[in-house]
Amino acid sequence: MSSKTVLQLSGIKQDYGQGETVLTILKNANFSLMAGETVALVAPSGTGKSTLLHIAGLLEHPTDGEVTLGGEACNGLGDDQRTRMRRNGIGFVYQFHHLLPEFTALENIMMPQLIAGLTMAEARERASQLLDYMRISHRGEHRPAELSGGEQQRVAIARAVANAPLVLLADEPTGNLDPETASYVFSALEALVRQSGLAALIATHNHDLARRMDRCVTIIDGKVVDYDPGARPVI
Ligand code: ADP
Ligand code: MG
Repeated sequence: MSSKTVLQLSGIKQDYGQGETVLTILKNANFSLMAGETVALVAPSGTGKSTLLHIAGLLEHPTDGEVTLGGEACNGLGDDQRTRMRRNGIGFVYQFHHLLPEFTALENIMMPQLIAGLTMAEARERASQLLDYMRISHRGEHRPAELSGGEQQRVAIARAVANAPLVLLADEPTGNLDPETASYVFSALEALVRQSGLAALIATHNHDLARRMDRCVTIIDGKVVDYDPGARPVI
């Protein structure tokens, strides 16, 4: 593994079900993400994109295979250590924002920082900067329900990077938005990732957005393979 590799998946297998109805979703899947690299994961529904992201994000244990994050092998870790690695090393963005409804946009971005032990003042300062960067400072005091879909996703993205993770994992982050808003939100995400030097793996069905990443991969027969976004679409 190169010293610049921030995330490595080796020989990942993922089965669901039991007995005669075992469904093998991933089979000897390998994937490496370098520091500062942006990769789009483009594959049809049901091929295992979310499964792969959940395994990479230490949200799910694979049936077999190894996950290495920031040079640290995660397989042997207990739940507490996995939680610590996830909090410090991973930022996750979902298709639906998953913001806490009773808190404001600013507070939602402060939350992971407070959990990580920053003071209120420090967390507020960074949350304000991120809101500013995402061009939604004027919405900081609003709750998620008062925000548009695009604004909610921009807050979710800001929250995901609030603790300066090693890796940003995004599961169809613009999949629920109209094309124009999707493009705007994706641009904001891209600018933030590039500016902060974050490594990112982003599942998307949008080829135009995928093309803007450094590299594209897809899932074929349970394996992660490089994919040329200029070629015939896989979906
Ligand atoms: P994608 O994100 O590419 O649409 P998923 O990773 O969500 O695909 O799912 C891949 C396949 O695994 C699907 O057939 C799905 O039904 C199945 N699957 C996902 N999670 C589970 C689970 N917890 N139990 C059983 N089957 C699952
Ligand atoms: Mg999915």
